[in-house]
This record gives sequence, structure tokens and C-alpha cells, in this order.
Amino acid sequence: MSDSPKDLHVKRGAGQVRPVQLTPSLAVGSGKPVIMAGPCSVESQEQILTAARAVQKAGAHLLRGGAFKPRTSPYSFQGLGQRGLELLAEARQETGLLVVTEVLDVRDLDLVCRYADVLQIGSRNMQHYPLLREVGGVDKPVLLKRGYASTIEEWFMAAEYILAHGNPRVILCERGIRTFETATRNTLDLAAVVLAHLETHLPVIVDPSHAAGRSDLVPAFSRAAIAAGADGLMIEVHPHPATALSDGDQALSLEQFTQLMGELALS
Ligand code: PEP
Ligand code: MN
Repeated sequence: MSDSPKDLHVKRGAGQVRPVQLTPSLAVGSGKPVIMAGPCSVESQEQILTAARAVQKAGAHLLRGGAFKPRTSPYSFQGLGQRGLELLAEARQETGLLVVTEVLDVRDLDLVCRYADVLQIGSRNMQHYPLLREVGGVDKPVLLKRGYASTIEEWFMAAEYILAHGNPRVILCERGIRTFETATRNTLDLAAVVLAHLETHLPVIVDPSHAAGRSDLVPAFSRAAIAAGADGLMIEVHPHPATALSDGDQALSLEQFTQLMGELALS
């Protein structure tokens, strides 16, 4: 394997997005934004099914929801684990939505692969190289979130791990970075979307929810992301944001999500 930047997989064909096929009829990077929506965490059967039905009806393509949650405090809700994955599969069965969910640990990879259509690598794990190598060896698309304190070049090199280990289906996700600014949970870096499109061939989506940290900013951040050329959005949506077990402040209600989808008028 060469160390020379000009040989990097991630930079080959830069400037032209190579779509990542999710199904024969759905690809990220094909010109039509792909929408991933759902709660931060899978909490219960009723919660995930209610969310899934509503986001499907509003026009989302994928259902998101964490079964394994990376929480700052070890005392916070850690996710339902395998039960959460089973509930996501039930929601997929009922709605036809594909499922994107985080794989937090190499030891869970086989399990998560049995349920997920797209594997999410979380911001905190963007430089977890053993995990990147392992997802490089599976036949599933990988959504690679940018580390909240990672440079754009470090993000590209994390993608390079996955590509170099044999998995070409990588989707980049900008989700906000930590800066001196505290008015938002993170700082949405739309420059990253533009640069990733210029310097790589990978599709890039934006998660406005973790960037904003508050739901009232999510619609404008979503529109800005699409204007910057994002190939899709990942948005947190909850049937009852006020009682969410994680990230309730940034979750759109079902009604707010439906309204946003109408405003975005993507189809
Ligand atoms: C999430 O998608 O709920 C999540 C934990 O995101 P991030 O890894 O970007 O913080
Ligand atoms: Mn979250």
C-alpha cells in the first residue's frame, strides 16, 4: 500500500461523485438528496414504529436510530442493544425504509450487520482504526461521521482506511465540529461538504441535528446543507422530543419533520 497522497483511493476521481448504491433503485450521490430520519436512540416498539411510519410518509428513504449509543456519561441511557436492532428490523419490515444504525464496537459488527442496511461510524469513533479496518471488510455501505475535533484531511484518511481495506461504499457525513462557539452544540462546517466534493469522489451528507443541538435551527441548517450540495441529510426526529432518552433538544417532532420535508420539496 502506497503512502503517497496522489495514490489515495479517497482522492481518485476527485470532483465527480461516485454514487453509493443502497438498493438497485436508491443511491446516495445520484443527484437526488437521500433523507435519513428517526430518533437518536431506539427506545421502544411504539416509539420506533411511530417515528418510522411518520418519516416514511413524509418522504424519508432511511430510518435512523441508535441501538448502541456512545454517551458522554456512563450513567446515561446506553441503548437497547440487540433488542433495538430487532425493533429497527420490524420497522423496516412494516415501512420498507432501509435502516442505518451505529456500530460502536468491533465485537458487535457481525450482530449489527445482520440488521443494518447501512453501518454508521459515529463521530467519536472516526479514528477508531481497528473498527475502520473491520468495516472495510464487510459488504455494507458505511456512513462515516466526521470526528467532532477532526480536520477534513483526517476525515478523508479515515475514509481511506475503509476504502483501502476493500469496501468502496463510503458515505461521508458532516455533523458539526467543536469550536470556540458555544451558542450551537457544534459548528456546522459546510466548507467540509464543498471541499469533500472537490477533493474526493465520495458522496457527502449533512447531519444538521448534532451540529445545531436545538431543533429550531434544524430547518435552516438543512436548507443550507442542500444549497451547499449535500447528497442527503440525516435528521433526528422523535414522536415526543420532550421525553426522548437522548438528544431530545435537537429532535424535530413528527409534524416539524413533515413540514420541513414539504419545504425542501426534494422530489
Ligand atoms: C447519533 O447519530 O446519534 C450520534 C451519536 O452522532 P455523532 O456520532 O455524530 O455524535
Ligand atoms: Mn443523537
